[in-house]
Amino acid sequence: SQKAKYPERVAFYNLDLEHNLLRKIMLNEALKGALERQEFRLVYQPIVDSAGQIVSFEALMRWRYQDQEISPVEFIPLMEQSGRIVEVGIWVLEEACKTLAKMRQCNADICMCVNISLIQFYDKGFVNHVKRVIEQYAIPGHLLHLEVTESIFRSDQMQINQKVSQLQQCGVKLSIDDFGTGYSSLSVIQNMNIDYIKIDRSFIQHIEQKGLSIVQAVMNMSKSLNFMVIAEGVETYKQRQILEQCGIPYMQGYYFSRPMEQSEAWNYLTAASSEIQY
Ligand code: C2E
Ligand code: MG
Ligand code: MG
Ligand code: MG
Repeated sequence: SQKAKYPERVAFYNLDLEHNLLRKIMLNEALKGALERQEFRLVYQPIVDSAGQIVSFEALMRWRYQDQEISPVEFIPLMEQSGRIVEVGIWVLEEACKTLAKMRQCNADICMCVNISLIQFYDKGFVNHVKRVIEQYAIPGHLLHLEVTESIFRSDQMQINQKVSQLQQCGVKLSIDDFGTGYSSLSVIQNMNIDYIKIDRSFIQHIEQKGLSIVQAVMNMSKSLNFMVIAEGVETYKQRQILEQCGIPYMQGYYFSRPMEQSEAWNYLTAASSEIQY
């Protein structure tokens, strides 16, 4: 059998599993005190319009643990499982709004996009927290964009609509992140008052080889359903050009800028606004 032929493979497989499990346990332990130890910070990646002008920043979490940067792709799911994401998400929203208030001294119309885990989104304190934070930092609601993934469409339609309308009463905008990768029912989108859809990077990456059909479909939908489209993960000039021809109004990706530390983002913004004035 396969097993008899390659016994060493089986052994390695088990070692990998064990290693992964140990790493998860270790990171979970470390995450317990990470907020208090101030190991988290936010970095900021610009989103630009078709002229290449910055319209907003997306706040992205970073975790430095024992001289290592651990990716949010690894630690966010762990915090979702433990429920810790609710508390940490409160910190993220506050920190992002604090930065937004500061950025507005340079550009009063700049927006801030904040990723919200569904667990946080449906937490009973969430809407009040959003209200409190935008009041505290005197931020007009429409400058705050909350990004949730498509998995939101899996929850009950009534539940979604209730939360969405409560949030929209605060004036904040709602984005669907990583669009196209998960479950989504077009009928649900139709019934939901979405402000932005971010087309996942995977569709942008292969745009030259695999074509534009997905991007075009979302663009067409955006006209009848009245939402704005953002292309994620734009890395090359060619991709930018194709997306521009397709009428995509907003783009984000390494081609324009990588996520930046706060001070760097501030410099980027001030340089961009002095260009406009000039
Ligand atoms: P996301 O919200 O879809 O964020 C975009 C991710 O793509 C970021 O990865 C960003 O650095 C990366 N990216 C941007 N442009 C490019 C590009 O041109 N090429 C490539 N290859 N990548 C690009 P990051 O910072 O590692 O974050 C990964 C994910 O972790 C985020 O995906 C989001 O789902 C989650 N995340 C990050 N910060 C937070 C947070 O504060 N709260 C929550 N709930 N989730 C967060
Ligand atoms: Mg996002
Ligand atoms: Mg995304
Ligand atoms: Mg993504």
